[in-house]
Amino acid sequence: MTTSVNDETLREEVRQWLSENWAREIADELESEAPTHYTASPALRSWLGKVFDARWSAPRWPEEWFGRGLSNDQAKIVEREFAKVKAPGTGQDRVNLWANTLLAQGQPGLKEKLVGPLLKSEVNMCLLYSEPGAGSDLAGIRTRADLQGDEYIVNGQKVWTSGATTADYGMLIARTDWDVPKHDGISFFFCPMKQPGVEVRPLRQITDESHFNEVFLSNAVVPAENLLGKPGSGWRVLNTALAYERSVMGETARGSRGGTGLGLGAVTEAQPLIALAREAGRLDEPHLRQQVAQTISYRRLNALNTARAKADLAQGTSSSIMSLGKLAMSRILHEEARLRTEILGAESMLEGEDYPQAVDANFLSLNAYFTSIGGGTDQIQRNIIGERVLGLPKEPEVDKTIAFRDVKTGVGSG
Ligand SMILES: Cc1cc2nc3c(=O)[nH]c(=O)nc-3n(C[C@H](O)[C@H](O)[C@H](O)COP(=O)(O)OP(=O)(O)OC[C@H]3O[C@@H](n4cnc5c(N)ncnc54)[C@H](O)[C@@H]3O)c2cc1C
Repeated sequence: MTTSVNDETLREEVRQWLSENWAREIADELESEAPTHYTASPALRSWLGKVFDARWSAPRWPEEWFGRGLSNDQAKIVEREFAKVKAPGTGQDRVNLWANTLLAQGQPGLKEKLVGPLLKSEVNMCLLYSEPGAGSDLAGIRTRADLQGDEYIVNGQKVWTSGATTADYGMLIARTDWDVPKHDGISFFFCPMKQPGVEVRPLRQITDESHFNEVFLSNAVVPAENLLGKPGSGWRVLNTALAYERSVMGETARGSRGGTGLGLGAVTEAQPLIALAREAGRLDEPHLRQQVAQTISYRRLNALNTARAKADLAQGTSSSIMSLGKLAMSRILHEEARLRTEILGAESMLEGEDYPQAVDANFLSLNAYFTSIGGGTDQIQRNIIGERVLGLPKEPEVDKTIAFRDVKTGVGSG
């Protein structure tokens, strides 16, 4: 156990542990297993279990929550040592959306039950936020949760739910009070997904993949102890959770069709563009060189900006600077995809296994919309930056102060 150690002793301890546990075979096994979306492979789970047992998963967290109570600077030492040997699993106190949200807002029983399994990726999760009539205007949700005894009964529909087919729990926002303004009547839950009241129907995306789903909730049962925060304070819980999600999207992105882009997956760097330009015999063209250099600089700048935002988050504030990182990443991904297409020239119009570079370029062009829509669209990030960072006047919201029951809408009311 490492409480109050000096930096050198800590660094030595991590190195020693990694040299005893992170074997070449484990790395190969993780690499060889086909990546799956939203679920960890058996090899990854087994490795995460080891990391957890050694208390490296969330080193900033206190000992009672499986951590080591390290300062941010010392936790970074641990992360750097893991990164040097390319071992995943540490730093989850920064990037594990589910575990961070639960630890901050959950009731003791639920935390005891799920924080550990979440750190080990033994539990699969999804986000039950968006609805057919409530995406950007998320506070307009109409899924309802009614308390009956010690259970909430949930009815409504969610959409664009990534990973719902494999999820054990969904982080759910639902309306528990219709007589207060829209932001005040929402509650936040961990909703068990494997139950008769939850029906999941897959949707097909522009990339021909199917990670999205519609989720129909018909008298779904959520134990009252799965409520996070107080009844009606779900909007606050949601904002902390969204900031974590944006920070992950702000620093990671899917590279090719296989990667997950959700924290533990691959992080694409701009350097593959150098390799692509070299392969295409175009690395000497000043115009292309300049554009490649620019995307690399944007990535670096964005990494620094995201680090600044994370420091805010560590202080317990949901930083609006996260929105800047997410917006920047979305622009970077579109620009990199465009640049790939420019480097490949006419070849980018081809498809099929003889043209893997073109397949990648086309996939990445379409997939760039993942980041510019998911987790809040680019336009919504701009609104947040305008209002909260630049201090511009707020958008008019005519329904902000009236009881949600009285909000005029084409959708049936509660
Ligand atoms: C890859 C991906 C994964 C996703 N995963 C999930 C998930 O797991 N769970 C989940 O709950 N949801 C998920 N979503 C849904 C996502 O959060 C919503 O699509 C998003 O919030 C936008 O909502 P909407 O689709 O209803 O569009 P709308 O809100 O209807 O927006 C339509 C257009 O209007 C613009 N617009 C709307 N309001 C304003 C405004 N006030 N100012 C300026 N422009 C505005 C938007 O920017 C957009 O261009 C995912 C989406 C994607 C793309």
